[in-house]
Amino acid sequence: MSQVIQWYPGHMAKAKREAIEKMGLVDVVLELVDARIPESSRNPIIPEIIKQKPSIIVLNKSDMADAKLTSEWIEFYRQQGKTAVAIDALHNKGIKPLQRKINDLMAPYFEEQKKKGIKPRAIRLMILGIPNVGKSTLINRFVGKNQAIVGNKPGVTKAQRWLKINKEFELLDTPGILWPKFEDPETGKKLAITGAIKDSILHIDEITLSLLDYLRQAPQTLYLTKYNLSQDEIEELTTVDLLLLITKKIGLKDNYEEASQRIIQDFRNNSLGRITLDRPDVSEEFE
Ligand code: GDP
Repeated sequence: MSQVIQWYPGHMAKAKREAIEKMGLVDVVLELVDARIPESSRNPIIPEIIKQKPSIIVLNKSDMADAKLTSEWIEFYRQQGKTAVAIDALHNKGIKPLQRKINDLMAPYFEEQKKKGIKPRAIRLMILGIPNVGKSTLINRFVGKNQAIVGNKPGVTKAQRWLKINKEFELLDTPGILWPKFEDPETGKKLAITGAIKDSILHIDEITLSLLDYLRQAPQTLYLTKYNLSQDEIEELTTVDLLLLITKKIGLKDNYEEASQRIIQDFRNNSLGRITLDRPDVSEEFE
């Protein structure tokens, strides 16, 4: 379920500590992000937590993102020496290719082990990410109907349960939850648009104006059809005037607050098409 957490410094320190603790137990970290905002939904201190641990950036909700931009993001990460894959955990897409990537990542290690006469064992995974990126959904997809708890690891304060995915993989039953980025207002707006942070933190009309700006720059123009607009008609409008026009077109007279709610809702349930708000070329530096 979508969860809204208020993050205070104490919570952050605790979340970080717990994530670092879990790190010692796993072979591969799956860093889950929202494919519509791969950079904005990435916790800023993840590299500090993961360090040299093998990891994969998993762009989830790819069903809602612009397919071309998702490919560009994957290529962008590849150039940075990182493995990234796109999945759609909700509709169970891309899970097998993700598992193959995990195998590829671990192959050299198991090769080394084999030389020493050590048999390969199940690869231990954990999922890490900010709230609402789909961590629980992915865990459910991984485990499917054959949920089986492999066993508790004694000696750790909180018993860690391992879910057996198949012969090859085991997954920590609880994901690492980290906080979203707060510093940059643009990032905050993108997180709000996608529903990753509480709506009330920002004004709904402010979020909507920001979304309309993105829609105007987006490669596809489904929103024009949706709100009965023509390119000519909106060409010269300010974004505020565009919001007022849409409000009128959807029959809400001057209730632009409600119109804003409607537009955000339309974006979130994909009625405006597949739109990615983060672009790899304009993103800030990563580490
Ligand atoms: P968590 O807080 O990271 O555990 O996120 P959840 O697994 O609770 O997912 C948050 C919301 O996103 C839920 O409404 C899910 O149904 C939805 N969701 C998760 N994965 C996907 C996906 O790949 N595509 C779409 N469209 N929705 C998804």
